[in-house]
Amino acid sequence: MKIFCIGRNYVAHAKELKNDLPTNPIIFMKPSTAMLIDEKPFYHPEFSTNIHFELELVLKISKNGKHISEKFANDYYQEIGLGIDFTARDLQNDLKEKGLPWELAKSFDNSAVVGKFLDKKTMDEANIGFSLLQNGQIKQDGTSRDLIFSFNDLIVYISKYFTLQKGDLIYTGTPAGVGKVNVGDVLEGFIGEQKLLHCEVK
Ligand code: ZN
Repeated sequence: MKIFCIGRNYVAHAKELKNDLPTNPIIFMKPSTAMLIDEKPFYHPEFSTNIHFELELVLKISKNGKHISEKFANDYYQEIGLGIDFTARDLQNDLKEKGLPWELAKSFDNSAVVGKFLDKKTMDEANIGFSLLQNGQIKQDGTSRDLIFSFNDLIVYISKYFTLQKGDLIYTGTPAGVGKVNVGDVLEGFIGEQKLLHCEVK
């Protein structure tokens, strides 16, 4: 399986990191070894002093496809959930400055927290409200309404280059409010009132 992630898919987040707005989706990938499942704790790695949380809506691909057209894109996922795209911001800033790939900052072990998924039929896909609490305090509060590239746009774009396979995940980008995690933190993710993600930092 593959994990696709989208960079700068919310205007306010692109601005908080002082980035230009993209004209096409910005795609990067994480390997399957990045997955952190079953509410296991995240052990803060030693190679970074500035790991950021990025809470994101995640699409779970439900069937194989390539060159998927806009008209059929919505058939390729049935479940939407939450994930955290942990990012070593210090490494990423250094890599960005040098024009180098982001993998060391984005794709390390356990950098993709995978929460629970919900049947998309239970939601209004055009307006899914989601939020991240750090130690009980709201830090991120986003809605799919603010996506620059919609879920269907992403399926169309990614499948031009990569075959989507059942079980692949697409992290659709983070809203504003990203921040540093510290050892001892409890991170919780919600869609509406439903808690779908829990992660302790150790
Ligand atoms: Zn992200």
